[in-house]
Amino acid sequence: MIVTRFAPSPTGFLHVGGLRTALYNYLYARKNGGKFLLRIEDTDLARNSDAAVEAIKEAFDWCGLEYDGEVEFQSRRTEIYKKYINELLESGKAYKCYMSKDELDALRKEQEARKERPKYDGRYRDFTGTPPEGIEPVIRIKAPLSGKIEFDDGIKGHISFEAADILDDFIIARSDGSPTYNFTVVIDDALMGVSDVIRGDDHLSNTPKQIILYDALGFKVPKFYHVAMINGSDGSKLSKRHGATDVMEYKRMGYLPQALLNFLVRLGWGHGDDEIFSMSDMLRLFDPKDINKSASTYNLSKLEWLNAYYIKNSGFYELADEMLFFGIDFRGLPKGELLMSLLQERAKTLLDIKAGVELIVNAPSSYDEKAMKKFVNDESKALLAQYLAEFKEDLENTSEFEHFTMEFLNSKGKTLKDLAQNVRIALTGGSVSPGIFEMMEVLGANEVKKRILEFLKA
Ligand code: GLU
Repeated sequence: MIVTRFAPSPTGFLHVGGLRTALYNYLYARKNGGKFLLRIEDTDLARNSDAAVEAIKEAFDWCGLEYDGEVEFQSRRTEIYKKYINELLESGKAYKCYMSKDELDALRKEQEARKERPKYDGRYRDFTGTPPEGIEPVIRIKAPLSGKIEFDDGIKGHISFEAADILDDFIIARSDGSPTYNFTVVIDDALMGVSDVIRGDDHLSNTPKQIILYDALGFKVPKFYHVAMINGSDGSKLSKRHGATDVMEYKRMGYLPQALLNFLVRLGWGHGDDEIFSMSDMLRLFDPKDINKSASTYNLSKLEWLNAYYIKNSGFYELADEMLFFGIDFRGLPKGELLMSLLQERAKTLLDIKAGVELIVNAPSSYDEKAMKKFVNDESKALLAQYLAEFKEDLENTSEFEHFTMEFLNSKGKTLKDLAQNVRIALTGGSVSPGIFEMMEVLGANEVKKRILEFLKA
């Protein structure tokens, strides 16, 4: 069975880059009928763990991702790590190192003076004497001294590290007994039955160390996929400067979750030239083998484009649900469906829809000066006054408003151009809005009359 996991360190929010990693793991597990697990890597930052899980749950809920089973917390697994550290000590695959900090510093200085890579020299590797007093030892793994550590990365292909060049007997437990990062990851992935690890390629240098640990512990090494990073538009590592990094910030900015997921899946993965991927498309087509080798660029205009696409193509109820977050209940608005269909046509974000509702539903409190100057004069006002005088209160549908208006204009030898912008300004206060006849249907004939009257008085 395919078992994947998402293993964030707790930061209090879900990072968009993290969501991409989670999504890839989620898709691969789900499309294979496998499991997608969540583990909080909180050995250093245990106090943030609950908030971290809440933030991830909230973001996962919003995006419709679900993990299987219970969340694992590294901070609650100390005894498990201890047990395996003891096993390695007993089998002689790990050992206690009594080197003091001063000795380690002195060694590093010597190595630097010789222009060598700082590296532990293995002085306690085969130590059988009496340990020095007053030093709490660290635990080091006996890493291979020669040969290669190799694996086939699902994205990057065959990867090979020279043991002698790269590795030393790295620490698996600190002098206070706490296990180190690479050790906990291996124990957890092995015990959680993780078959496939899809993670950022910033972890690539950890992988040979982890493979040494899998081998020492007798665990099966999972398949690794190291995904290239996401860069900002200037080529540097994605950060706040390039846009929001907290997933929930995108909700607040009026993005739809499917637009964000579509955007993220394409940052690093593709299928032909396709741009639009619904969740079911992703589940059908995603294969981690097709993840790009090179870094991708975070391009927010692409996200906006996708968001506009999804807004335009969403159903009323779906959008109505999302708009509740912005304090607008479309189900409770008269002509809510029509209003939504007018606004979703051009909206780039849900905030545009909110602004559109405010524009149409609230009677204007002032009129845009520029628009007034450009479109309104005595003649246009006179025509509008006649229009108001003849306006029928029993008009209801868009087509009825349109038919009536065109007949009125014909009878006066005028065209829509002579009237439309004045009506628009009267109804909304400005010269940019959805179609006037649709707005009339949304507002109802009485309200239209009232607004035109107000405008003529102003
Ligand atoms: N906790 C690590 C991180 O947040 C992930 C470790 C892993 O995926 O192996 O970068």
